[in-house]
Amino acid sequence: MSADGLIGVEEHLGHILDAVSPLSALDLTLQDAHGCVLAEDITSAFPLPPFDNSAMDGYAVRSSDVAGATEATPVTLPVVGDIAAGSTGVYTVQAGLCVRIMTGAPLPAGADAVVPLEWTDGGVAQVVIRRAAPAGNSIRRLGEDAPLGTTVLTAGTHLGATQVGLLAAVGRDRVAARPRPRVVVLSTGSELVDPGTPLGPGQIPDANSTLLTTAAREAGGTAFRVGIVPDDPRVLLDTLEDQLIRADAVVTSGGVSVGAYDVVKEAIGRIGKVRFDRVAMQPGMPQAFGLIGPDSTPFFGLPGNPVSAYVSFEVFVRPALRRMLGVEPINRPTVRARLAGALTSPPGKRTFARAMLSVDSGTYTVTPIGGSGSHLIASLAGANALVVVPEKTTEIESGATVTAMLLERRQA
Ligand code: AMP
Ligand code: MG
Repeated sequence: MSADGLIGVEEHLGHILDAVSPLSALDLTLQDAHGCVLAEDITSAFPLPPFDNSAMDGYAVRSSDVAGATEATPVTLPVVGDIAAGSTGVYTVQAGLCVRIMTGAPLPAGADAVVPLEWTDGGVAQVVIRRAAPAGNSIRRLGEDAPLGTTVLTAGTHLGATQVGLLAAVGRDRVAARPRPRVVVLSTGSELVDPGTPLGPGQIPDANSTLLTTAAREAGGTAFRVGIVPDDPRVLLDTLEDQLIRADAVVTSGGVSVGAYDVVKEAIGRIGKVRFDRVAMQPGMPQAFGLIGPDSTPFFGLPGNPVSAYVSFEVFVRPALRRMLGVEPINRPTVRARLAGALTSPPGKRTFARAMLSVDSGTYTVTPIGGSGSHLIASLAGANALVVVPEKTTEIESGATVTAMLLERRQA
């Protein structure tokens, strides 16, 4: 801690990351496992493909029967059957005959090539073939994608759509994976009303619980928006006690600074061990973090101003949720960019300035948006990046090279 009672951003993040770890794996359906980290190696229990099959709609033939086929000297073969995808019939192609076959249908015994429909007249009783198909033509061989017993995915893989698709292709309907962290989000403040409710005197809509639940979802969590809790310690504690049952993390906003009615500060110590720190950053100086309830659930008490709450989420909560998910990297990507516009930053604090990043011919330019006021949610919504100004820097001139942290979507 410095002489002015502030702790560094890295120190606060260090406290958080020391206290959180990847969640234990569960048996999840594929739908639930999407976006999660696989906790087992996946071995194919059958070859992929499971049987020789046709790669085209066409005719299964013996290649020797069509060896001489050309435009000028077509070969005509009787068609003795039809094999559709999913066909369970047992077929054999005798010399001098052929079978009409569809893509994905099992290759009949005797056939060693498929003549694509496009090389023929498409006949049903007999077919005129105008091009020779060599042995193996348009056949997908058993096991050519993954032989029986291949490890097709390893533990630690982050499961996107294609990986989940592969799990289905090898016949799995459930897998061991680390679940998404369940994040309970609530807003403190007796001035808050639900969005959509007409405002009375002194009231404002609760923006933070919507902002933070959606941010938690974008970070890979399952988020529950509990909504508003008034500045009453009893109500806050009762709500937390009700909610802890479904929480891997709790995120509140508001009530962590030094004012009267700062409800989190008043109440949370009764159900856990929570630190209240002043972190050397702007926005987001007052921060609470600790472990609460019977299961020592990570608790993040973020400041109430929406920009402070969001920046605090990005800097502290998102990395923690990614750590719980078990994915790497836990941090947002950063780029070096040319600053279009000047920035100032208080001495000794790391400033996260809202900005719009664009890229032109591989060069990044980042333009600060809005003022530094942490209530300015309208300008926050226009930003796709945060410019990170180091603690020692107090002024940056336009044209300087800066570090910009990329936010979700609308990236350059
Ligand atoms: P606090 O940290 O509770 O002192 O709140 C700081 C400022 O943020 C006050 O102006 C609050 O009205 C505002 N604020 C707190 N929570 C919210 C919220 N959920 N949505 C919008 N503004 C909020
Ligand atoms: Mg408040």
